[in-house]
Amino acid sequence: MKVIRFIFSSMLLVLSITAFSQKISIDRVDPPFWWAGMNNSQLQLMVHGENISLAKAIIDYEGVKLERTILVESPNYVFLDLVIDNDALAGNFDIKFVKGKKTVATFNYELKKRTKAPESYTGFDNSDNIYLLMPDRFANGNPDNDDMPGMLEKADRNNPNGRHGGDIQGIEDKLDYLKDLGITAIWINPLLENNMPAYSYHGYAMTDLYKVDPRFGTNEDYKNLVAKAHEKGLKIIQDMVFNHLGTNYFWKDDLPSQDWYHQWPEFTRSNYRGGAVNDPNASEYDYNKMVKGWFDKTMADLNQHNPLMANYLIQNSIWWIEYLDLDGIRQDTYPYPYKDFMATWMETLLNEYPNYNVVGEVWLSYPQAVAYWLENDNNKDGFHSHLTNVFDFPLMYAITNSLNQDNGWSSGIAQLYELLSQDYVYSDPNKLVLFADNHDGDRLYSKLGEDLAKFKMAMTMLFTLRGIPQLYYGTEILMTGYEHQGHGFIREDFPGGWEDDTIDAFTSGGRTDEQNIAFNFVKHLMNWRKTNMAVQQGKLTHYIPEDGVYVYFREYEDECVMVILNNSKEDKSLDLNRFAEITKNYSKGKSVLDRTFLDNLETVNIKAKTPMVFELSK
Ligand code: CA
Repeated sequence: MKVIRFIFSSMLLVLSITAFSQKISIDRVDPPFWWAGMNNSQLQLMVHGENISLAKAIIDYEGVKLERTILVESPNYVFLDLVIDNDALAGNFDIKFVKGKKTVATFNYELKKRTKAPESYTGFDNSDNIYLLMPDRFANGNPDNDDMPGMLEKADRNNPNGRHGGDIQGIEDKLDYLKDLGITAIWINPLLENNMPAYSYHGYAMTDLYKVDPRFGTNEDYKNLVAKAHEKGLKIIQDMVFNHLGTNYFWKDDLPSQDWYHQWPEFTRSNYRGGAVNDPNASEYDYNKMVKGWFDKTMADLNQHNPLMANYLIQNSIWWIEYLDLDGIRQDTYPYPYKDFMATWMETLLNEYPNYNVVGEVWLSYPQAVAYWLENDNNKDGFHSHLTNVFDFPLMYAITNSLNQDNGWSSGIAQLYELLSQDYVYSDPNKLVLFADNHDGDRLYSKLGEDLAKFKMAMTMLFTLRGIPQLYYGTEILMTGYEHQGHGFIREDFPGGWEDDTIDAFTSGGRTDEQNIAFNFVKHLMNWRKTNMAVQQGKLTHYIPEDGVYVYFREYEDECVMVILNNSKEDKSLDLNRFAEITKNYSKGKSVLDRTFLDNLETVNIKAKTPMVFELSK
């Protein structure tokens, strides 16, 4: 180590002696542009270029002050702290780098005009039905961009783990399909550049945080997609990752400083035990491995305790919101970065956009751990995450367990009941994002043994329980796949998304009878949910399951929905008198799922393994 340090300082000496003759250039400034009139007047620019630290930066623009220049270990970076006055006008100015009296490099910087009031970025909420899709696997709208010059991985549709060619144009082409289905918001797995030699399709090893992967399209294409979606009343949620970046990021051979990434004597993987972050009994060893260990060899673990790195990430998230008019963020691997940094990020974001939403991925199976991360006043250690929404992983497990197990005191449908009876741990259970499957686990239809009756039960739970429901692409057409087969098998191409597909499941004629039953069921539920306030945000009241039948109500003002899940293998005649504290206010019911009417609220006949949903009225 000493030898390396000696060589390093000798190199610096040589660099400074030969500086006069050295080339000084700028090849990149991040963020590439910014906006006038942001609430936060601070902007930190990362300027990258050969020997750029050997020159002095000068900015001459009214309302913009260069407050501080920060040098780092590498001579090829400078960080410029700017203060942008509230009355600074949108426009362009030169950032000049001088040596003596000579300008050696110039970058023209733009402050754009903001297009929207910050309060009008209202995020997503309980009125939304979210659709998660993986852009490489959904639809290929532009076969010409499947392979792009400079991109290391070429398209290979025969490789389950390869790139298949799906893109932004494909999503745009299917917006009407999604709208018809009843979707109101689309969470797209990462669209940013992933110039990695393999497994680049999933997008989680980003190599440029300011650029859409050219195999998906351009930044402009992404912006147009958001605009087109907005025209149709659809929101777009961006997938972001603050824990790691692809090891091929542009700075890979020239980190600003060695503490940019968490460095280990040899490759050390995270233990993936998110609970170690908020475990009062956790060892330092486990905590360090969890937070500082690398997610994968190809994913460099970022040190957000370096304030320059922290700013780089925070500003990037704001840049995309402002550039795209983005409706929300899904943040990956939420417990993996430093939690104090994540809290600072959320505070900064909400300071800029007070009505914004972020949903965090806290992949833990017990509610207490998930509740810790959803903003609350009750964490024993005083931690405030400021996180507005979090995924309900415990519910995902409960949905499958409740349908697959035999009904008992605490098994089968009682699993769902017992989970929901723990809602007291959440500051607001309506802020949970609910899902039955996603891109990281077994597909729902496989988990349910390809049983259509169970599928309808699961979808009824998803779209009638408290929280914000999220559907995984292809679940509506009963796509199957197990994670143990490889991730490629739970992320297969949506049939009909490719020109040469022989089956087009985007159309009813291309779907099997069973797929059409599933599709129409989900479509009906989601479109109904859009119109019903009780199911969107009504109070949940549930009853202890009896004999495999679970009943709950959602009430909002004078609207009331009654959900009956018969999880038993027998048809039932259900006496409704047990629910009189709620049903006494109503006299009849109209079924949401079929043409059944209840003339009185005395008894309901319900078939085995069947859900029923009623709108009650006076
Ligand atoms: Ca393509």
